[in-house]
Amino acid sequence: MSTQASAADAADRLSPNLDPWALARELSARHLIGGKLVPAVSGRTFEVRYPATLEKVGEAAYGEAADVAAAVDAAVMAQKAWARTPARERGRLMAECGRILEAHKEELARLMALETGKALRTESRVEAGVLADAFVFFGGLASELKGETVPFNPDMMTMTVREPIGVVGAIIPWNVPMMLMAYKIAPALTAGNAVVVKSAEEAPFAVLRVCQLMNQVLPAGLFNILSGYGPECGQPLVAHPKVGKISFTGSVETGRLIYKAAAEKLIPVTLELGGKSPMVVMDDADLDKAVAGAVSGMRFTRQGQSCTAASRIYVQAGLHDRFVEALKAKVDALVMGDPLDEKSDIGTIVSLQQFDRVNGYIDRGRAEGGRAHECSALPATGEKGGSEKLKEGYFVRPVIFTGLPKDSRLIREEIFGPVTCVVKFETFEEALEQANDSDYGLAATIWTRDLKTGLDGARRLEAGFVQVNQNLVVMPNLSYGGIKQSGLGKEATLEAMLEHFTHKKTIIVNLG
Ligand code: ADP
Repeated sequence: MSTQASAADAADRLSPNLDPWALARELSARHLIGGKLVPAVSGRTFEVRYPATLEKVGEAAYGEAADVAAAVDAAVMAQKAWARTPARERGRLMAECGRILEAHKEELARLMALETGKALRTESRVEAGVLADAFVFFGGLASELKGETVPFNPDMMTMTVREPIGVVGAIIPWNVPMMLMAYKIAPALTAGNAVVVKSAEEAPFAVLRVCQLMNQVLPAGLFNILSGYGPECGQPLVAHPKVGKISFTGSVETGRLIYKAAAEKLIPVTLELGGKSPMVVMDDADLDKAVAGAVSGMRFTRQGQSCTAASRIYVQAGLHDRFVEALKAKVDALVMGDPLDEKSDIGTIVSLQQFDRVNGYIDRGRAEGGRAHECSALPATGEKGGSEKLKEGYFVRPVIFTGLPKDSRLIREEIFGPVTCVVKFETFEEALEQANDSDYGLAATIWTRDLKTGLDGARRLEAGFVQVNQNLVVMPNLSYGGIKQSGLGKEATLEAMLEHFTHKKTIIVNLG
C-alpha cells in the first residue's frame, strides 16, 4: 500500500461519535457480515434498553441459523487468503486495529455505559481504555507462531508447523464484552483464523462498533459479528459444520451445553466459566491495602458483575471486625447514580433478570440469618443527583454479608451482583480448607505481611489465577483461566494463542 493511498484511506475512516444514543440507533438492526452492516435474514429485531431508566436504546438484529450460515460462509472465504498472508503483516494489521480502537475509546466507553449500565468513569472507560492493548500485544506476537525441527532421523528432515484452525466461533457475555471479545479474536485472527462472534443479547452495540471499526482495515469477511439469543443464534454457531473451534465465556450451565455440542462435532473448545473467588486476609495483613483490594477485587464499581469477583472474604478473627467496619465505610463512600454521569462510581445491574436474581440472593441471605450491611444508595428524587428517571432503573445497593451459615448458598454460588460474604476464621489451615471447598477455581488472593504464609497460600489455593497482597485484573501476558468448574483452557498469552487457535502439523521430508 502506498503512503498516499493509506493517507487517503485514513481520511475516509469513521470518526468518533460521542453521542451513544445516536450511535446505537445507527447500529440498530444490523449484524456485520462479509464487511457489511446487514439486517437479519428474517428482518426480526429485539429491543435493548438503558438499564438505568429503561428508555429504549435501539433494536438489535435477531440472529438465527440463516444468519449464522451467511457469516460462516463469509468467514470461510476470507480465511483462505488470510492464512496465506505473512504472519507479520497480519500482526501489523492487528496493531493498526489497536490504533483505531484507541482513537475511538471514548465513544466505545459511552456506548458500553448506555447498553450495560456500567458506570462510565469507573468501568466503561477503563474497559475501552485497555482494549487496544490486546490487539497490539497479540499483533506483536505474530512472528512467534513458530514450529520446531525434530532430531528424528538424520536421513529425514522433520519439522512441525503451526497452522490456523480455520473459522473460530466466539460466544461472549455482557459484563466486559469488548475486552473478553478481544482476548478471543486478537489471538484467533493473528494466528490466521477468521472469526464469527455471537454477542450477548444484553450488549450488542459496542462490540458491533468494534467490529465495524476493525473492518475498515481488515479484509472483508474475516471478522463477522451476529447479535441474537443463545438457543437461536449461539447454538447454530456451535453446531455449524465449518466452525472448527469455539471459544466461550459465560455461565457454567451454558458452558456444559456448548461442550456437549462441540463433542458431537469433535472440535476443541475453550471455556471461561464462573467463579466464587476467595480472598484470605490474615491478622498481619495491611488493613488499608486489604480493604482497598476487597473493593477493587469485588468489582463493587461494576456491581460485582465479574467472574473473578472477591465474593467470599475470609478474615482472621483478630482483624475481622475492623475489616468489616473499614470495608463498609469505603463501599459507602462510592457514589451510585446515572451510569453516564461522570460523578457516578456505581451504575446498574444489566437486566431485569439479573436484578431479580441478585435481589433473590440478598433476601435468601437475610432469611438464613446473615447480617446484611447495605452500603451506598441512589440519591432520592429531589436530593442532589437524584432523578425521577432513575426510579425504574436496576440499581442494587452493595451488600456486605456477615454471620452467614457455612453452607449458605450465598457462600457457595456465583451471585454476579454487588454482594460479598465476609467469613471469620481462626487458623490459616481453616481458611485454606474453606477457601478450597468450592466447585469453582478461577481466582484467589491472600493478604499477609509474612512471606512464607503468602507463598504457602498461593501454592495451596486451588485456582488458576492467584495473587498475594493485590487484586489486579486480567491483562495481556498473564495466563488466565480456571480449574474445576471454572473452565477449560487459558487465555491472554502466547501459549494460549498457540494451543487454542492453531494446529500443530508434523512434516517429514525423506532426504535419502
Ligand atoms: P449469562 O447468564 O451471564 O447471560 P450465559 O452463559 O447464558 O450467561 O450467556 C453467555 C453467552 O452465551 C451469551 O452470548 C448467550 O447468548 C450465549 N448462550 C446462551 N445459551 C446458549 C446456547 N445454548 N448455545 C450457545 N450460546 C448460548
